[in-house]
Amino acid sequence: MKSSSDLVTKVSLVRCPSYEEAPLLSSLQQALDLLGGIKQFVRRGQRVLVKVNHLPPPSVAERGIVTHPAFVEQVLTVLLETGAQVRVGDDINPAQGDGFAISGLRQVCQKLGVKLVNLREEGFQLVSIPGAEVLPTTYLARAVLEADVIVNLPKFKTHSLTVFTGAIKNIYGCLPEGLRVRYHREFQGPKFHSVLVDLFSAVRPQLHIMDAIVGMEGDGPANGDIRKIGLVLAGSDGVALDRVALAVAGIDPEQVYYLKKAASRGLGFINRIQVLGENIDGVRIPDFKSGSVSSQIIKRWVPDFVFRAICRSFESHPEVIAENCEGCQACEKACPVKAIRICQGVAKINRHRCIACMCCHEACRFQAIRSQKSMIGRLIITVVRYLRRLRSHGVS
Ligand code: SF4
Ligand code: SF4
Repeated sequence: MKSSSDLVTKVSLVRCPSYEEAPLLSSLQQALDLLGGIKQFVRRGQRVLVKVNHLPPPSVAERGIVTHPAFVEQVLTVLLETGAQVRVGDDINPAQGDGFAISGLRQVCQKLGVKLVNLREEGFQLVSIPGAEVLPTTYLARAVLEADVIVNLPKFKTHSLTVFTGAIKNIYGCLPEGLRVRYHREFQGPKFHSVLVDLFSAVRPQLHIMDAIVGMEGDGPANGDIRKIGLVLAGSDGVALDRVALAVAGIDPEQVYYLKKAASRGLGFINRIQVLGENIDGVRIPDFKSGSVSSQIIKRWVPDFVFRAICRSFESHPEVIAENCEGCQACEKACPVKAIRICQGVAKINRHRCIACMCCHEACRFQAIRSQKSMIGRLIITVVRYLRRLRSHGVS
């Protein structure tokens, strides 16, 4: 992120104090104008799918879990002015209630006359992923595949499994729910990160606009603490956009394995980035809580079988907070390895079966599952970071 003349990718970074209509629209326009304007990305008549982050559990927008509907509304306003055919979508489980209505996204789309698609309603299609490391084929939502342009609207959030969830991770929602669960079960550690990169390579949105007005820190993506960030980020390179978001949060990009992997596969840049608008140093959040990173850092450096044999005890695991548990079974249904049962109205986790995928943590809407931090894991991570800092200062 320097300002030399051979920079190859641009990310705009614009302050936005709130979700109020006027300042939000102004910040959004500014972020897009810095990139040359929305018409660089979307033209009249094109079929545009706006991929929001509408992670379960169903929740009101103020909880900071989903791309805020007010943010989506202003993006739609800009997109509709281009004359494009715009739709909004994500894949949600209707058994948990009308999540789109609970967040307010449905009302926004109705107000603007934009079709809102639950991706599963239009089905999924088998696709090949050239150059894939883990997924030579998979199923992706038809609504995504049939769009001319994908506009990706990630939310600025931490993630208990992958450290951070931004532009790249948001593409995971283009899979059918069954595969989302299955991939968590089958691909752990570095392989799961490769899954994210494979999927990103298959979808490659043309434009990413991140809702970083209010984000989430700590135990994201669903049970962390909301955090005012006050920014809008935009760019055509999702890798670079995530890299800039991490810099704002003060998270070491070395922790986010999928980001490095995506860059190494030529899907975007993590270094040669020109940041337009605000200077990162001026908007960095010094006390941002990056949450209980599970064991991804360790996983990168050892073979899978060694990791499984030796490092299991280092991981963060889910822990049920019994007094918050409503016995709603959402975690039980989300668990890919059937490690959860509801006993006498409270969720119980079988630690021997649990693969630490944190799907239950995402699924719980009562903040009844927390990520339990491992003392040994934290100690190792602290030592690794300390050694890296020493090395970067030329001490070792
Ligand atoms: S922990 Fe309790 S409240 Fe949370 S999803 Fe599971 S059953 Fe529901
Ligand atoms: S108990 Fe939670 S973290 Fe463990 S495997 Fe099931 S969903 Fe994943």
